[in-house]
Amino acid sequence: MIRVIEPATEEVMAELPRAGVVETDAAVARARAAFPAWRALDPAERSTVLHRLAHAIEDRAGELATLEARNAGKPISDAGGEIGMVVETFRYYAGAPERLLGKTIPVAGGVDMTFREPLGVVGLITPWNFPLTIASWKVAPALAAGNTIVLKPAELTPLTAIELEKVAVEAGIPEGVLNVVAGPGSVCGQRLVEHPDVAKVAFTGSTEVGRGIAQAAAGTIKRVTLELGGKSANVIFGDADLQAAASSAPLAVFGNAGQDCCARSRILVERSAMDEFMSALEQAVTALRVGDPLDHETQMGPLISADQLETVSSYVNGEAPVAFRGSAPDGPGYWFPPTVLAPVSNDDRPAREEIFGPVACVIPFEDEAEAVSIANDTIYGLSGSVWTRDGARALRTARAIETGVISINSNTSVRVSTPFGGFKQSGVGRELGPNALDAYSEVKNVYYATEPGDPEAGEAENIV
Ligand code: NAD
Repeated sequence: MIRVIEPATEEVMAELPRAGVVETDAAVARARAAFPAWRALDPAERSTVLHRLAHAIEDRAGELATLEARNAGKPISDAGGEIGMVVETFRYYAGAPERLLGKTIPVAGGVDMTFREPLGVVGLITPWNFPLTIASWKVAPALAAGNTIVLKPAELTPLTAIELEKVAVEAGIPEGVLNVVAGPGSVCGQRLVEHPDVAKVAFTGSTEVGRGIAQAAAGTIKRVTLELGGKSANVIFGDADLQAAASSAPLAVFGNAGQDCCARSRILVERSAMDEFMSALEQAVTALRVGDPLDHETQMGPLISADQLETVSSYVNGEAPVAFRGSAPDGPGYWFPPTVLAPVSNDDRPAREEIFGPVACVIPFEDEAEAVSIANDTIYGLSGSVWTRDGARALRTARAIETGVISINSNTSVRVSTPFGGFKQSGVGRELGPNALDAYSEVKNVYYATEPGDPEAGEAENIV
C-alpha cells in the first residue's frame, strides 16, 4: 500500500494500492490498444474533448486545489493558481490538433509534404513539487498530438493525478487513452523507460534520476524529454530598483518552500548595493507568513517529508554564515524557516548543490563580467533573473547567462504559451508553448511522384 502523508500534520490522508511491473505493463497495453482510435479521431473532435476536459477540471478546481494543498503542503492560494494553470494548459493545447501543420517542399518530379505523426504510447513521470501542474504540461500536448499515455506521478503526491484520470473519462476522453499508475519510480518508472511499447518518456525530477533515465532509454532508442534540477541566479545590479528586487526575491526562492526547480537560490548582488539590498531583504523575509497551507494568508508551507527536512537541514551547518531567518511553526509537520546565508562563496556546498528547500545564498560580485561568470559557474541552467535599469546591460546579461529561461526585472519563469526547459544538466527538450508539440510528434516526409518516369527518385536512392 502507498500511505499518503499530509506534510503539515504528518497524518495519513489516504492509502492506496501500490502498482508494480504487472500494473505498469497492463497500463501500457491499455494505452496501446486505445492508440489507433485516438490518433484517428477527427482533429476538431479531439480538440472538443480537450476543451471539455479543461471545463471539467475548472468545475472541480476548488476540490483539486485543496487536495493538492494538503498532499503537497503548499499554500492554498498557490494551489488555486496551479490548478488555474492546469485548466489554461488544457485550453491552450485544445487548440493544437487542428494546427499540427506540415510543410510542402519544392522538389523535382513530384510533391513533397511533411506530416506530424503521433509517437504512440508515451510514459510521463512527474515529481511531487507541482504534481498536477507538471503532469498537465505533458498530458495536454501529448493528447493533442494524438498519443496515448501512461502517467506515473510521484509516490508522495499521487492523489490529483488519480483524480485527473477520473475527470478525463467523465469529460469524454476514451478509456485507455490516459492511464495513471501510482507506484515507485524504481519499479514503475523504470519499467516505462525500458518498455519496448513505450515510444517516449517525458520526465521531470532530479538530475540524478534523469541521468539514469537517459542511460536506460538508450536500450530502445527511446525519445526523452528531461526537465531536471536547477541552481538559478538572481542577479541584482546596483542601479536596479533595489526595493522591488529585494521584496520579490524571497518568494522567488522560498515559494513552494524552496522546492521549485526554478528557485532563484543564488542571489548575486553587486557589492556597492549590498547593505541597502540586505536590509530590504531582511524585512521581506521576516514578514513572510509561514504556516497552515489551508489558511488563505499563508505564503509558505512545510517541506514535503521528513527525509527532505533532514537533507535541507544539512546545508545550514555553519559552512556559510546565517544572515537572518524567517519564522516557522512548532509542532507536527516538516517545518523549516526561510533562511538566508550570507556572504557565501560560489564554491561553498550550499551554492553548488540544489538544496530544494527554503535556503538562499547571497553572493557578492564586483562587476558585470564577474556576475556572468558566477551565474554560469554551475552544472545547471534552468532559470534566473537580472535586475538593472540599464536596458542594454539587461539584454547583454540575459543573453550571456547559460540558462533556458530568464526574466528581466521580474522573477517569473513559466507561462503556458512560452517554452520552458533547461540548458546544461538542467535537461533536454522544451515543454509548454508551441515547442512542446514537437516533443510529442515525429516529422514524416512523404514524396509523391507526379511526373512520368520519376527520374529524380532513382538518383536519390543511389545517394543513400
Ligand atoms: P525524483 O527524481 O526523485 O523523482 C521524480 C519522479 O521520478 C518520481 O515520479 C519518481 O518516482 C520517479 N523515479 C525515481 N526513480 C526512478 C527511476 N529509476 N526510473 C524512473 N523513474 C524514477 O525527483 P523529485 O524528488 O520527485 O522532484 C524533485 C526534483 O525535480 C528536483 O531536482 C527538481 O529540480 C526537479 N524538478 C524539475 C523541474 C523542471 O521542470 N526542470 C520541475 C520540477 C521539479
